[in-house]
Amino acid sequence: MEERGNISIHTENIFPIIKKFLYSDHEIFLRELVSNAVDATQKMKRLSAIGEYKGDLGELKVVVKVDKDAKTIVISDNGIGMTAEEIKKYINQIAFSGATEFVERYKDAGEQNQIIGQFGLGFYSAFMVADRVEIITKSYKDETESAHWTCDGSTEFAIAPAHKEDRGTKVILNVASDSEEFLEPARIRTILDKYCKFLPVPVEFEGEIINNPNPIWTKQPSELTDEDYKNFYKELYPFSEAPLFWIHLNVDYPFNLTGILYFPKLKNDFEIQRNKIQLYSKQVFITDEVKDVVPEFLMLLHGVIDSPDIPLNVSRSFLQADSNVKKINTYITKKVADKLSDIFKKDRETFEKNWDDINVFIKYGMLSDDKFYEKAKDFVLLQNTEGKYHTLEEYKALTQANQTDKNGQLVLLYTTDADKQHAFVEAAQNRSYDVLQLDSIIDSHFIGMLEQKLEKTSLKRVDSETIGKLIEKDEAKDSVLNDTEKEDLKKIYETAINNQNMQVEVAPMAPDDAPVIITLPEFMRRMKDMSKTGGGGMMFMGNMPDTYNVTVNANHSINQRILKAKDDNKERIARQAFDLALLSQNMLSGSALTAFVKRSVDLIDKE
Ligand code: ADP
Repeated sequence: MEERGNISIHTENIFPIIKKFLYSDHEIFLRELVSNAVDATQKMKRLSAIGEYKGDLGELKVVVKVDKDAKTIVISDNGIGMTAEEIKKYINQIAFSGATEFVERYKDAGEQNQIIGQFGLGFYSAFMVADRVEIITKSYKDETESAHWTCDGSTEFAIAPAHKEDRGTKVILNVASDSEEFLEPARIRTILDKYCKFLPVPVEFEGEIINNPNPIWTKQPSELTDEDYKNFYKELYPFSEAPLFWIHLNVDYPFNLTGILYFPKLKNDFEIQRNKIQLYSKQVFITDEVKDVVPEFLMLLHGVIDSPDIPLNVSRSFLQADSNVKKINTYITKKVADKLSDIFKKDRETFEKNWDDINVFIKYGMLSDDKFYEKAKDFVLLQNTEGKYHTLEEYKALTQANQTDKNGQLVLLYTTDADKQHAFVEAAQNRSYDVLQLDSIIDSHFIGMLEQKLEKTSLKRVDSETIGKLIEKDEAKDSVLNDTEKEDLKKIYETAINNQNMQVEVAPMAPDDAPVIITLPEFMRRMKDMSKTGGGGMMFMGNMPDTYNVTVNANHSINQRILKAKDDNKERIARQAFDLALLSQNMLSGSALTAFVKRSVDLIDKE
């Protein structure tokens, strides 16, 4: 006998809204229905385990079938099933009011503010792709009859006896004409692959089990070998190089979280990482947009996080404020810092070997999270031009005696390009100064941070001052030239250079220092760097020409010669000396280079 009824007389028809409002991700219907089937199957397992069910469990699995001719998608399970009464209670009432509430709350939410992975719509998400949905089900409670429920996308339903022999539930979606893309087996396979790959019960499609029901994150670390972790990484990201190391997350209290985070081999294109961290809830894939769940710097990691305690039916803006999410953030950050610290202490060689790959990540973490900084300051490494690594503490000990200036400030020197800045690096090394190699994209921010955090310490790029001024000591240099001569020399150079962005100064240096040195002051370069990366609201700096300092060495014999040279030769020699300085810094090009070469040929010819 068939019974007809109204699912709800109080609410407007929610089906058109369901269909419309989750416009972007209709495919999640399959995740919802397959996970319901998995749940029903697992309940069955539990009933049997506690002796509530004494019959044969059979081979527990979920089967998905597509029939292009009949235009149906069928999801079957041999789980607990439902009686007619249970359908009315769970499907007509509970699930319906849940879906209604969900739709009411989020129908106006807008695209950016969507619910994580659009969780919470449940069974009724079937109506995103179907215009008629049927349930044929038989409860595990043996003597009950089977039932057939039909709903055509209005709030009316029909329920009738059915002739199902075996226990379990079959959900039949009669696919709507505008959703026929979901009748393509390839499409269904892709969706299953995305959402159902690690569901805890075997899922069969086209005669094949498509999932791995026991992914390694559900196991104990003690059961696993390095190979297991590496193989799992391959399973997640088939086209990637092996990871450097990993962290197994496993916590029950005060929240439940499991997962594995991998440190990938970072290429230079770390900004366009496609291998994202995947978020699961009880092995159901939710999303790989974990921006609101994981601290930003940890998004450079790869892997899986599985937590039923991340609220999935809230909008993204609520998520970050959620206390569990905050705790999870703190926990993951701590675990990652502890792991790095552990590797550093136990195997510094490996740590150093991987520094190129992990330094961006560690520096980014230190910049964005104070707690991470506190831990990382003991293992962050500074690499010098000789390729040696030092911790902050070690480096301070190494440089303090020789690189403290007359004001008691420790000056750390660095180069962003040891080749291009070679002359300056060499000048520093001649004074037994150490030079750091700080050349990654993040280093300009890292340098700023070190100066803020380290007491009485500043960092200067080797070419930002002449060597005597980089680290000012008390030793005053005598000048061979008197003030009038210096003034004359300055004028000669100014005329020869003829460029207002070159600020000429005559100063005494060692006779064997270069005759002319061109530097870009540290603060100028930093402001420009910042405007390039969009920081500090200094966009306009990007268009400003660099203002260089040109220091003419008063004690160099060439400069003494210039003063004695014939008038028409003075500027020529000065220009030649200036061009040599440009040349040593790769700053000579175009017509200036051509003129320099010509002048040089003339000079050799005369000798
Ligand atoms: P949720 O799964 O979050 O409870 P749903 O709307 O997806 O919400 O499902 C509502 C209820 O319908 C489930 O809690 C369950 O009791 C019942 N149900 C759905 N699908 C099945 C199934 N395949 N087998 C048995 N019961 C089911």
